[in-house]
Amino acid sequence: MVRATASARRTAATAILAVSLLAAATVVSGATMANSPRAIRADDLLTFFDQIALSQQARPFGRRPKWVRRWMGPVTVTLTGKAPARFRRRLAHALSTISRWSGERFALAADPANAPWRNRISIRIVDHAVMLRRYGRGGNVCTTATFGRRGQLRRARIVISDRYTDCLDHELMHALGFDGHWYGRDRFDPVHSVLALRYTPARRFRFTRFDAIAIRTLYHERLWPGMPRRRALAAVARLYRAVSGI
Ligand SMILES: [Zn+2]
Repeated sequence: MVRATASARRTAATAILAVSLLAAATVVSGATMANSPRAIRADDLLTFFDQIALSQQARPFGRRPKWVRRWMGPVTVTLTGKAPARFRRRLAHALSTISRWSGERFALAADPANAPWRNRISIRIVDHAVMLRRYGRGGNVCTTATFGRRGQLRRARIVISDRYTDCLDHELMHALGFDGHWYGRDRFDPVHSVLALRYTPARRFRFTRFDAIAIRTLYHERLWPGMPRRRALAAVARLYRAVSGI
């Protein structure tokens, strides 16, 4: 068996990111004619990445340093509660997509009771009445809490209301290390994301190509857990400019 060298892997990751960036630029300038006055620029993607990955202090644990947070090594995902079969299938598909983009393995455990606690994302589907009791009407319908050390994630806990299972991709992004949300700048903002808030124009319910770029970027070899925000931003800016003409 031939093993890829570190530099070959780095080149491959960078090439894939380049293709993603160019695809984003092409699609958005295509959409420009319909209703958007702006084409995508590398700066738009940098702002997006900064906002969702590096700028927000996550609640309720707040006061986190602004640094790169992500998993290292294989991650076990457990699913418990009232999850319909189609939700389980959709989760398995999302995990295989995330594994491809991140280069880390995220896999659903067949037996949650015997899954390891370390490097684990636990997902629980609860009756909507539980969320109403906890957060009230108009409050949270899905939540994610993550736990780690010096930027390296070790555990995450996702709770999803059975009435809002369309939260899945949004909460998975939080679990991957994206603590922030995407607010966009106005309704013509070309960058759309599952991390935009519900009921805002930038919100989508399935990973967008911008989310794919953000995940590939967060897990790129030029970034590492605990890397301070300013250093990470400089690395991402260099990466985007080096791999694309946008
Ligand atoms: Zn959120």
